Amino acid sequence: MDKYTVLKKYFGYTSFHPGQEEMIDSLSNGRDVLAVMPTGAGKSLCYQIPAILSDGISLVISPLLSLMKDQVRSLNQAGVAAAYINSSLTEGQIRKALRLAGEGAYRIIYVAPERLVSPNFLSFAFNADIRLVAVDEAHCVSQWGQDFRPSYLKIADFISRFSRRPAVGAFTATATVAVRRDILKLLSLRDPRVLVSGFDRPNLFFGVETSRSKDQWILQFLSRHTDESGIIYCATRKNTDRLYDYLNAHGYSAARYHAGMSNEDRISNQDDFIFDRKKLITATNAFGMGIDKSNVRFVIHYNMPQSMENYYQEAGRAGRDGDPAECILLYSPQDMIIGRYLIEHRERNEELTDEEFEELRRRDLEKLRRMEKYCECPGCLRQYILEYFGEKAKGACSGCSHCAGGVVTDATWEARKAVAAAVEMNGRCGLKNMAKVLCGTVREEDKKRRFSSLRCWKALDGMEETEVCGLLEAMVRDEILARSFPGGYPVIKPGPLAEEVISGKRSFMWRKPEEKSAGRGSPVRVSGEGGWNEEDLMALLRGLRLSVSQEKGLPPHIIFSDSALTDMCRKLPLTEKEFIDVSGVSFRKAEEYGARFLQVIRSFCARFAIREIPDETKSRRQAKTYRADQRLRFMLTPSEASAFVPSGEPCTMAHFAKALSDLKEPRDVRKLFGVDVEGKLVSMNALIKQKTETGEYTVAGPKAGEFRLSVQEKRSAKGTVYQIILLPPEAQTAILRLYTLPGDQK
Ligand code: ADP
Ligand code: MG
Repeated sequence: MDKYTVLKKYFGYTSFHPGQEEMIDSLSNGRDVLAVMPTGAGKSLCYQIPAILSDGISLVISPLLSLMKDQVRSLNQAGVAAAYINSSLTEGQIRKALRLAGEGAYRIIYVAPERLVSPNFLSFAFNADIRLVAVDEAHCVSQWGQDFRPSYLKIADFISRFSRRPAVGAFTATATVAVRRDILKLLSLRDPRVLVSGFDRPNLFFGVETSRSKDQWILQFLSRHTDESGIIYCATRKNTDRLYDYLNAHGYSAARYHAGMSNEDRISNQDDFIFDRKKLITATNAFGMGIDKSNVRFVIHYNMPQSMENYYQEAGRAGRDGDPAECILLYSPQDMIIGRYLIEHRERNEELTDEEFEELRRRDLEKLRRMEKYCECPGCLRQYILEYFGEKAKGACSGCSHCAGGVVTDATWEARKAVAAAVEMNGRCGLKNMAKVLCGTVREEDKKRRFSSLRCWKALDGMEETEVCGLLEAMVRDEILARSFPGGYPVIKPGPLAEEVISGKRSFMWRKPEEKSAGRGSPVRVSGEGGWNEEDLMALLRGLRLSVSQEKGLPPHIIFSDSALTDMCRKLPLTEKEFIDVSGVSFRKAEEYGARFLQVIRSFCARFAIREIPDETKSRRQAKTYRADQRLRFMLTPSEASAFVPSGEPCTMAHFAKALSDLKEPRDVRKLFGVDVEGKLVSMNALIKQKTETGEYTVAGPKAGEFRLSVQEKRSAKGTVYQIILLPPEAQTAILRLYTLPGDQK
C-alpha cells in the first residue's frame, strides 16, 4: 500500500495538504522531522500515515487526555488499531492495554509524557518494535511556549534509550523562533527535516466589530447562524456565566466552561458541546486546549484577549475542517483598560526576581498594545496577523472585515427609507420580511397582511433583496435600526440613532459587500432549480449524523466532518461508488454509514427530481473492490490464538478460517476466509495453482509436507483426477502460527 491509498482508504481524502507529503516521506524513510504548521493544517496525518505504512508500532506523545481520546476514536473509526494509555485508565486497564500492545494488537499508541517513566511502560516500549515516536504539541517542551509541560523534557532521554532509535517527529503550531530552537534541542532531534509552513488560514474570516451592545450584536449574529457550532470567549468567569444565562434566556441552548466550575460540570458541558447537543459554548480561555472539534463555525471574542498569540490560537479553533468559518472580535476600548489592570495587578511569582518580573510585565503590556492595534487596525486584518507572526502577507485578502467589502458608499438615502419603514411597520416583522416589503417581493399569500398598501412598499425597488438584507444588517450594527424580541421572535424597530439619520444630522456610510467575498455565510448556499436548496439537504444530513453519533456514542465530527457533509451536498452521490468519492469518506466509513446517508440523499434527489441513480451494476462491482480492499491483514494476538482448539478430524480451509475468525476480538473487525488461507499456503509453496484445460486447481506443492497437509486424490465422474486438501490437527496448529502475532503466550 502506498501513502495515497492509505490517505483515501483510511481517511477518505484524495490529495495532501501542503507539507504533508514531505513529512510523511521523511518519517517513512526513518528521518526525524520538525513540522511547524498552523492549526487545521493536518499535522496528525503526517505521523499517522507513516505509522500505518510501517510494519512496527508507533508511539504518539500527546499532552492532553481529550486529544488522545479524540484521535484514537477517529483512528478506530477509520479501521486503524489504536489505543491510548494514560491516567484516565485504571491500573488494570493499563496492564491489559500494555499486554495487548506487547502482543502487537495496536499500530498506534498514544501516551501522555508522564507515562515515559513508568517501569511497566518502559519494559513494553524497549521490547517492542517501535519505529516512530511522534511528539504532538511539541512546543510543550519549551518554557517559552504557552503550555510548558516539564515531563516533555523526559522525551529525549526516553528516545535515547532504544537499542534501535526510532524516527522522531515533532509537531507544533507555535511559530516563534525561540520555541522552535528549544524543540530541536530539547527533543535531541537528529538532522531533522524542518518544515515551517505558512500561518495563513485562508478559510477563516477575521472581523473586528465595535458595537455599543455586544449582547445585541451576538443575538443578531446568532440569528444568522442558527444550527452552527460556535465558541464565545469571555475575559472573566463572571461574564461567561452572565452571557450563558443571557443566551439561554433568549432561546439558545448554550454550554459554558470556566475554571471556577467543578470538574464534572466542566466535562459534561464540554461533552455537550463536542457532541453537538449544544451548539454554543461560552467560555474563558481555560477552554479549548485539546478540543479537536473540527466543525466549529465561528469563534467570537466578547473581550479583547491579552495577546495576538492568544487570539490566534483561540480564534484558530474555528474551521479546523477547512470549511469557511468566522472569527470575530467584539472590541470596546474598555477592554484595554481591563487588560492593563489585569497585567498590572498580577500576583507576584515567587520564582522570579524583581527584574524578571518587571521584564515580564513590560513584555505583556507590549503584547497587549499590539493586540489593541489589531482591533484598531484600519487595514487588512489578515495582513496584520501574518506580519505579527513574521510572515509576509500577499496584500489585501478579501477574507476579513476590512477587505471583504467592495466599496464604501453613502447610503443615507436608502437608510432613511429603511428607518421610515421601521417606523411604519412598528415592530410587525423581522429583517427578512422588511427587506421583502422594501423590494416589493412579498409572496402572494403574505399580501393578505396588506403589506402592499404600506407607504414603504417597494421603497427600495431596484435593489436586490439580499442586498437590502445586508443594508438592514449594517444599520442594526450601527444602531440606526434595532432588533428586539417581544414574543421571542426577532423584529426590527428604529434604533437609538434613527432620529439623527432622519433629521439629517448623521449620514450612513455603507460598505457594500462584494458578491464573491470570501466572507462566509453557510458553507453551502447555492439553491438549485425547482425549489430545492442545498441547505435543506445539509440539515437532513446533519440530523442523520447526530442520530448516528448518539447511537454510537461518538462525537458527530468523528462520524463525518462538516466538510464531508458539504461535499455530499455538492456531489449528491447516489451510489456506493459515488459515495466513496466524497472527500472525507474512508472505505470503512462508506461501508459503515454509506447506506444510511445514501438513502437520505437519494430520497432528497428523488423528491426534487434532481438527478437519477446511474447504472447500478457497475457501481456494485466497484463497491465490492473497496470492501475486499478494506480487509486488513488478519492476525491473532497470542492470547487469542491460545484459545484455539484444533478440530480432531481433518477439516477444510473454510472451516479452519472460520474457527480462526471466531477467535478474533472484537469479532467484527477482520475476517479470515478459506481463500485467504489457501492464498497464504500458495505463497509459501505448500500449495500450487495448476492451470488445466478444464480450469484452475489447487494442488499440493513442494512444502505441503512441512505443513502436514492431508492430500487426497479423487477421480471425478468424467475421469479427471483432482486433489482434496484437508487440514488435520497438526496442520491446523502449524498454520495457526502463521496467523499469530509474536509475543509471550500467557
Ligand atoms: P492540526 O493537528 O494540524 O491542527 P489535524 O491533524 O487535526 O490538524 O487536521 C485538521 C483537519 O483536517 C482534520 O479534520 C483532518 O481530517 C483534515 N485533514 C487533514 N489532512 C487532510 C487532507 N489531506 N485533505 C483533507 N482534509 C484533511
Ligand atoms: Mg493537532
